[in-house]
Amino acid sequence: MELRDTQKQLLRTLPGVDTLLDALTAEIPAEKVPRSVLTASAREALEAMRRSIFNGQEPTVDLASVLTLAHQRIDTKMHPNLTRVVNGTGVVVHTNLGRSLLADEALERIKAVGNRYSNLEFNLATGKRGLRYTAVEDLICEISGAESAMVVNNNAGAVLLCLDTLVRGKEAIVSRGELVEIGGAFRIPDVMAKSGGILKEVGTTNRTHLRDYENATTDETGLFLKVHTSNYAIVGFTSAVSVAELVALGKERGVPVMDDLGSGTFVNFSHYGLPAEPTVQQSVAAGADIVTFSGDKLLGGPQSGIIVGSKKHIEAIRKNPLTRALRIDKLTLAALEGTLRLYRDEAQAVKKIPTLRMITMKREETEAQASDLMEALKGLPITTEALALASRPGGGSLPMLELPSCCVGITLPGMEAGALEKVMRKNDPPVIGRIENETYILDPRTLQVGDIALIADALAHIVEARS
Ligand SMILES: *Cc1c(COP(=O)(O)O)cnc(C)c1O
Repeated sequence: MELRDTQKQLLRTLPGVDTLLDALTAEIPAEKVPRSVLTASAREALEAMRRSIFNGQEPTVDLASVLTLAHQRIDTKMHPNLTRVVNGTGVVVHTNLGRSLLADEALERIKAVGNRYSNLEFNLATGKRGLRYTAVEDLICEISGAESAMVVNNNAGAVLLCLDTLVRGKEAIVSRGELVEIGGAFRIPDVMAKSGGILKEVGTTNRTHLRDYENATTDETGLFLKVHTSNYAIVGFTSAVSVAELVALGKERGVPVMDDLGSGTFVNFSHYGLPAEPTVQQSVAAGADIVTFSGDKLLGGPQSGIIVGSKKHIEAIRKNPLTRALRIDKLTLAALEGTLRLYRDEAQAVKKIPTLRMITMKREETEAQASDLMEALKGLPITTEALALASRPGGGSLPMLELPSCCVGITLPGMEAGALEKVMRKNDPPVIGRIENETYILDPRTLQVGDIALIADALAHIVEARS
């Protein structure tokens, strides 16, 4: 391609990389930004300029302009990639936004052991090697009533590990109504295949009876598996077999029962005016041999998979070589212990574990927050309205449940909701809202302390940038 004279002239005028670097080093203290970042940013800024010249644009190519571009690159590079966001969606356990927020008590445990040696796998009584589960096993057993417990990296791992231990080469009987797909390619039939178990489906999508399990049981049967339909509900003409019924049949036929609760909870939500979710305690009391559940869904702790059950089965699971590949990290373990300790007093748990606090939050509290938010936005040339809408628990839990919430609809004159959603998302920190009926909406249920001021700042900037 033949370059025009103006293009050649612009390319010649462009400062050299050394000039640019000298200017950057003079401006930015060496301890603030590593040299490698300065160099890469200078190169990228020049490259961007050259590209725009080649494309026929006529950018200003003086040192100041290239420096501005380089500074933008530096800012981006020095900003952490994983960053906090303001969750205004009202979805409490938002998988894409990090699921559960840790309680202060959980964070304290991370701090206490994160930069110090710990007794992670060291038995202080004997001076010999210990098990990492010891930190939480007693607590989990105390809260759930189970005989034995262990924890792994996440619940998907827990399910895989249990199936691999219990049904490799044997049949696992599952109701057709419970062949769940959780987001991110976790599907019961696929996990079964990976674990080397043979899936034997029984019943129909809407109705499965005890006789279906009974008729399907043979010498090849290694497990009755129940899976909580976490992210969908079958309504209408339905019937499912309870854990207790399966346990009774299992005792008779010598088949263990596993219950994957998914978003397991220790709290009976019906005590808080919400629909009852099956609790871990209920499943244990019903006699399930193995119960698996997530640490970061309704439990409100760090990402982890908790397995409770009989000593015999937990011991077999611990010996499975997969356990090593799925083991829980020490920081996670610390946070889990901090979270679990709160469950000894349910009132404390509901107050201090953010997930529980937000799910049990009453509509009146969202109303008060909504009016605080509207108050904070009063001075801005924007329209706000209080809207009676619903928030969701999210995270593949309580799929039918809508939590009545007072939300705030925000309108900027001459700006569409989609455009507003985008600029709010590009704010630092990003503010994530949702759009309903072409209105940009923020739900106070998932806002944290200080978020209202951040939202007001973000909107003030947007207004200012447009004037
Ligand atoms: C969410 C869920 C899982 C996977 O748990 P993660 O903690 O996300 O790994 C497995 N089974 C059920 C029923 C679930 O709801």
